[in-house]
Amino acid sequence: MGQWLSNVLVNGDFHSIFLENGTIAQILPAAQAPEVPAWDAQGMLMVPTFKDYHVHLDKAFPDDRWVSRHKVGSLYAQFQMEKDLLAPLKSGQKERARSILQQMLAFGTTHLRVHVDIDPEIGLSHLAMVRELQEEFLGTLTIEIVAFPQQGLIRSQSINLINQALQEGATIVGGVDPAGVDRDIEACLSAIFELSVAHDAEVDIHLHDPGHLGLFTLERIMDYTEQSGKMGKVAVSHAYCLDEVSENESLAIARRLATLDIAIITSVPIDSAMPRVAQLRAEGVRVYLGSDHTGLDAWTPFGFTDQLMRGRRMADKYRWNDDERLRSVYPHLGSTAGLFQIGDPADFILLAAVNPEHAAATAPPREIVSVRGVPVAGRQLQNAWKI
Ligand SMILES: [Zn+2]
Repeated sequence: MGQWLSNVLVNGDFHSIFLENGTIAQILPAAQAPEVPAWDAQGMLMVPTFKDYHVHLDKAFPDDRWVSRHKVGSLYAQFQMEKDLLAPLKSGQKERARSILQQMLAFGTTHLRVHVDIDPEIGLSHLAMVRELQEEFLGTLTIEIVAFPQQGLIRSQSINLINQALQEGATIVGGVDPAGVDRDIEACLSAIFELSVAHDAEVDIHLHDPGHLGLFTLERIMDYTEQSGKMGKVAVSHAYCLDEVSENESLAIARRLATLDIAIITSVPIDSAMPRVAQLRAEGVRVYLGSDHTGLDAWTPFGFTDQLMRGRRMADKYRWNDDERLRSVYPHLGSTAGLFQIGDPADFILLAAVNPEHAAATAPPREIVSVRGVPVAGRQLQNAWKI
């Protein structure tokens, strides 16, 4: 049992594709299409689904009312404001997280890296909530969990809790500003890497610290990565500092990041510095995009969950106007520029665009999102093939 789709724009031309057992089992040029019943894609472009490399599911405000923020003078004040504003909203937290996941799926995101807040006050309650959703969405979304000490690993004395979270489903050790928040780079990083070695876990550290403070922290993260043999298992999120030092300084860091296979994750901020993506990429560093803010939250009212729109924003920001650089957006989303091989998982998006460059430039609506060959979301879900 399988399903033919005809008139699919894929691999640079129109093809018929055969979906079977969750994979792309056949790709034939339109002229060679077999005379069998097929679902007509009407020339829609097919691209692999996206990944979102940095998500918080436990911070969203309701979208049916306005929660007022006030101006804060420091990061600690921001942390406190977030706790204060979220506390009375606890009861709807899971529903809001679920609705974010549905929204992401409808935009074509099928894998997420989720940072879950952990501190002595909330304990592992947010982890339990995200674990339930991880189960609920099994088969459509894959979710990996970062145990994230938002209030500071050392500052909030959360090492034991993070340790526990890593026994209860989190697979990545998080952290935030070893200098700026924890005020002890060595204590923070040695705890993070000890936890990661003890649990065979990956590492993903929020690094907002600016300029040379951030750069020094990055150097120490690289040292710890090397010493603990965690090459290919470490990511640094945000890393604004890479854009706040000279190009030569960031080049030297980029080379070492590439050697140690440390990934950089950015939400493509337009209100702050962001890592020099072209430089990092040229040196072979993996750079991925993440939403960070999914809508309204205590940090910003400008979040959004559409990864293709985020890729578009990056191209726009860097003035990537040519075809080659527009196509280059896709790997940052964990996707490709509409290229499939026989045997690939049938995880794809159909959208109205004439080529991948066009889609990266316009971020058109997602008409159908397929996971393992099954239509699961999208504007035309009702009209999709039935499997
Ligand atoms: Zn974050």
